[in-house]
This record gives sequence, structure tokens and C-alpha cells, in this order.
Amino acid sequence: MICFKRINDSYGQRIGDEVLQSVASILERSSREGDTIARIGGDEFILLLPAISSAEEAVDIADRIIQETAFPLHHNGNDIHITLSIGLAIFPDNGESKEQLIRNADIAVCNSKSTSRNNICLYDSSLQNNNSNKIFTENLIRNAINNEQIEINYQPQINLDSGKLHAVEALVRIKSADRGLILPGEFIETAEESNLINELGDCILENILQDAKNWHAQGVNVQIGINISAVQLAMDGFADYLISKIRDHNLRLNIFEIEITENVLIQNMEMTLANIIKLTNHGIKIAIDDFGTGYSSLSYLDQLPLNTLKLDKSFIKKIRGAGDDNTIIPAVRNVSSGLRLNFIAEGVERKTQHDYLKSLGPCIIAQGFYYGRPINSQTMLVFIKNYDSRKFN
Ligand code: C2E
Ligand code: CA
Ligand code: CA
Repeated sequence: MICFKRINDSYGQRIGDEVLQSVASILERSSREGDTIARIGGDEFILLLPAISSAEEAVDIADRIIQETAFPLHHNGNDIHITLSIGLAIFPDNGESKEQLIRNADIAVCNSKSTSRNNICLYDSSLQNNNSNKIFTENLIRNAINNEQIEINYQPQINLDSGKLHAVEALVRIKSADRGLILPGEFIETAEESNLINELGDCILENILQDAKNWHAQGVNVQIGINISAVQLAMDGFADYLISKIRDHNLRLNIFEIEITENVLIQNMEMTLANIIKLTNHGIKIAIDDFGTGYSSLSYLDQLPLNTLKLDKSFIKKIRGAGDDNTIIPAVRNVSSGLRLNFIAEGVERKTQHDYLKSLGPCIIAQGFYYGRPINSQTMLVFIKNYDSRKFN
């Protein structure tokens, strides 16, 4: 299933479960006696069709399944659209063992989106070379972890009242010999969908803590924002893990602010909340990232022990020229002030946007290319040491 995670994130796990059941029924309706249907992963199903006489027949069945999912599922007044991608591997041409067949069907699934055939892809050996698939990305991540190719870049956040540096945000990259720095947009989602996010998250944290230690040794004690995936935050014991890891590095807990998106609050709510509360009780700060793009419920804002709201960069993007106005930006700034939360405007690229934020009055922190692009820890150390708060005041 494509985007099942998004359905789960937006509608909650109960509805996610119902969607899975609907898909299972569709598969059941489309299959014949003697076929086997199994769910092998969160959003992955496998069909074993022993009675087909040609690859075309398998494609016909896949077509029928795709057609059945063309209609949205109705739930509580919502139309939920599901999209399947189907990969086919035929015995014995595409594999003689069950492992090989499953692996090749999986490779075909990863390529199904780029075929003209309605998200259906029949395996052939040339697909192995296609770099754009999930398996490739998983390998990229694994290799990066094993070969110390994870690099953290840091981007400044500026307090517009004083012009001083408020904090830096840690942003992960993969250092590739032939492609330079690979941005997280290319691999975080795959890491979250596989179990790699824990290993990757651990490696990211280790790097950040090492950098923080080095900075500390040079007399720099800046606040650091760390992006934490919803998957990690929903895990039993995550808060204990984070706390003990920071302590192991002899660093203070209260120089860290973790950034989470609003959507973390709808999956495994209970565990997520328990982790958030434990973290804040120990002095780790919590920021809501990309505010305004998710379900943006105001009700949780005063119930959760939050420290910061980060308004998504799409809002600042709308400020183009001098004199441009916007109602959302000052409104969210006022909500933040009312709830005693820090307000960070993300994505400031130009002077006009900076000037606009200054014109709104006090209590604004800003982040964006205008103040500085993400840079490696050594360069950031120099940036901090030479930073002159008059520059942006
Ligand atoms: P984010 O947390 O919203 O991070 C801000 C993103 O906006 C970064 O992209 C940053 O480079 C970019 N950005 C900063 N200033 C500007 C600007 O003025 N204009 C524009 N157009 N963009 C700007 P990046 O580094 O590619 O990261 C993308 C996303 O990947 C992050 O969005 C975050 O959700 C995720 N991510 C990054 N690092 C980590 C990490 O260590 N762990 C996890 N779980 N996710 C991460
Ligand atoms: Ca962030
Ligand atoms: Ca953001």
C-alpha cells in the first residue's frame, strides 16, 4: 500500500486497521480457491497464485485488484483513498526459491510506480539496477551507518529581538563519494518504513552528542534542536534511552530541544505522551515542527508540556515583496505568546521576509537561508565564535 503511513498518521491507528481489513477483503474477493493471501509487513501483502498458466494471467488478477481499489473507502464522512502497488514474480523464471520470488516481487513493487501500467510491475532482471528503489535506499542507509558517512549539519536560529543566536538545528546528511551530500528527503521516509530508523536515529544522536562535546570543550554551549521521528518517539523506553545517552556524554539535558511534528500525537498516543512527559520532566525541551501543515489542533497545545512552535516554511514563502501581509503568521505568533511558547518562523530566505517578521514586533525567532544554511560542525563552531549579533538586529 502506498501512503498507508499517512492514513495512519492522519486518521489514527483504529481507522488504519480498518483500512487494512478493507484491503484484505478486496484481495480475498479477487483471489480464487487455492490461492494464499498473507500480510507480511505493516502495509505489505503477499498473494500466492499456484494455478496461473501465464504471466498475463497474473497481470489480469493484479489489474482486477487495482480496479477494486479505485473507489475511496467511506469513513465518518471522510473519503479515504487507497493506492496499491503490485509487483509480480513468476516461478521459475523470476526465482526458484520462495525467498528469491519474494525478494524479486519486492523489487518489482518498488518499481511499479514508474511503470505506465497502473502501478503494476512484472519483475525482470534489469530492475535490479534501478537506483530509485527502496532496497537501494536501505542499502545506502546501512552502508552510511557502517562506514561513518552520516554527517550532521547545523543551521542557526536567530532571536530577532536581540539579533543573538538562539540555537542551532541538527540536520542529517549522508556523505556520498560520488553524489556529495544526500539530503534527508531522500532517505528518512525509507528509514521510517523499515526498522532502520532506530539504528539511523542512534547514529545521528551519537554524532550530535560528539559535536556538542567538542563545542563544549571549545567553550560553546549552544542549544541544539534534534529532529526525532514519530516512529522513535512512539517506542517504549525512548525517553530513558535519550536521557541516558545524553548523560553518558556528560552533557546537560536542558541544552537539547527535540523537534517533533504534530502527527506524532496521533500514533501510539499513550506511549508518545509518556515519552514526552518524561523528557520534559528531565529538562529536555519539546518543539512542534512544521506547525500548520498537519492536523493543527489547538487543543493539545496547552495540554502538552511544549516549549516551542515552529511555523512551517510554507507560510513565510508567501511573503514575497515589501508590503506583503499575511494573517496566519501574526496569529500563530500571538497564540505562541499567549501560551508562553517560543515562536520560530522557518524558511526565511530574503531580507523582505526578515523585515516583515521584524515589523510584527517582539518575541520572534527566525531560521532560514537568509541567516545561514546548514553547515558542518567545524564550520558552525567558527560561525558561532565569530557571530556578531548586530548583523541581524
Ligand atoms: P525540517 O525539520 O523542517 O528541517 C528544515 C528543512 O528546511 C531542512 O531541510 C533545511 O535545510 C531546510 N531549510 C532551512 N532553511 C530554509 C530556507 O530558508 N528555505 C528553504 N527552502 N529550506 C530551508 P533538510 O535538511 O533537507 O531536512 C528535511 C527534513 O528531513 C527536515 O525538515 C526533517 O523533517 C527531516 N530531518 C532532517 N534531519 C533529521 C534527523 O536527524 N532525524 C529525522 N528523524 N529527521 C530529520
Ligand atoms: Ca525540524
Ligand atoms: Ca520544519
